[in-house]
Amino acid sequence: MTPVIGIPQMGHDLFRKYMKQKYVSSLTRAGAEVRWIPVEDAQAAVTAALECDGLLLPGGSDVNPRLFGQEPAEKCGKPNDLRDAAELQILDAFLPTNKPILAICRGIQVMNVYFGGTLHQDLSKIQVCNHSAFLKKNKGSHTVKLLPRTKLCKLLGDAPVKVNSLHHQAIDRLGPGLTVSAVSEDGFIEGVEVFLHPFCVGVQWHPEHMSKNDPAQQQLFDAFVAACK
Ligand code: MN
Repeated sequence: MTPVIGIPQMGHDLFRKYMKQKYVSSLTRAGAEVRWIPVEDAQAAVTAALECDGLLLPGGSDVNPRLFGQEPAEKCGKPNDLRDAAELQILDAFLPTNKPILAICRGIQVMNVYFGGTLHQDLSKIQVCNHSAFLKKNKGSHTVKLLPRTKLCKLLGDAPVKVNSLHHQAIDRLGPGLTVSAVSEDGFIEGVEVFLHPFCVGVQWHPEHMSKNDPAQQQLFDAFVAACK
C-alpha cells in the first residue's frame, strides 16, 4: 500500500502552487502520495488528517503571536488564522496516534507553539547568518550543527549540514516536550523532535527545495515515508 501523507492546504495562487509541487515531488520520490487538507473547517481538517498515514506541516505565513501570548510586532507578517487553528487542532489529534509527523519551516514553528513555546517574530536585527536567502533555496546558505543521539543526526550524520534558509522567524523559547536536534551557526534552533515519539521531526529549513540534487535532504522524506508504512 502506498502511504498517504496529509498536508494542510497552503493556497491556490501561482507562487503557492510552485512551493506545493516541491513537497509533492519529494514525497513522490519517497514512494508516498499526497492528500491536501482544506483548513477552512478545523474539525473536518482533523477528520481528514486522521485518515492519512503521516502528516506533513508545510511552510507558509507567520503564526499569529497571540497564540503564544504576544502582541504582533511591526515586522510580523499577516497571520492566517484558519490555518493556525486547523493545524493546532490537527496536531492535537494526530500526536496521540504516534503516526509520523514531518514539520517544515512554518511547521516547526507551529509545533513549538503547540508545545507551549514562543517564536522570535523577526530575525533581521538579531541574525548573523542570512536566514532569508530565497535565491539560494536550491543550494543552501548556512550550516546547522546536529545534536548527537537525535533522529535528525542519525539521518543526516555528525558533520555540519548545509541547509537553505527561507525564514524570518525562528523558535525562541522551546516548548516543553521538544528536544533540539539542530542549531544554526548563529545559534538559532533549526531542528526539533519529540523524544520517544516514533517519528515527529521538525526542521526550520526547506528540504523539499534541495532534495532533488541532495540525497541527504531526500533522505528526510524517505525516512519519513518509510516510517509511515
Ligand atoms: Mn536558517
